[in-house]
Amino acid sequence: MCHNVIDGRLHLSCQHFIPMSTRQQDCLRPNCLFSRNHIHPIGCREKSCTRMMNPPQRNPIRISDSKCQDCIIRGDGRGVLA
Ligand SMILES: [Zn+2]
Ligand SMILES: [Zn+2]
Ligand SMILES: [Zn+2]
Repeated sequence: MCHNVIDGRLHLSCQHFIPMSTRQQDCLRPNCLFSRNHIHPIGCREKSCTRMMNPPQRNPIRISDSKCQDCIIRGDGRGVLA
């Protein structure tokens, strides 16, 4: 099945993932509605065709040891939730 791949930056110290760009990973199956190899491009009524995309997959293209911008602005959490 096709799914979106989200390229982004993973911040190790807060485990937050910051998306930068999204692209579609094509499974190239003829029975997948989202694939460019789909054999019924118009008005597909085939029950066997896949109509769902897999959940998006995170692809960390950058890995940072520090916290993300949000967490830096928010501080280290002390006094925010308490
Ligand atoms: Zn697909
Ligand atoms: Zn189809
Ligand atoms: Zn964060």
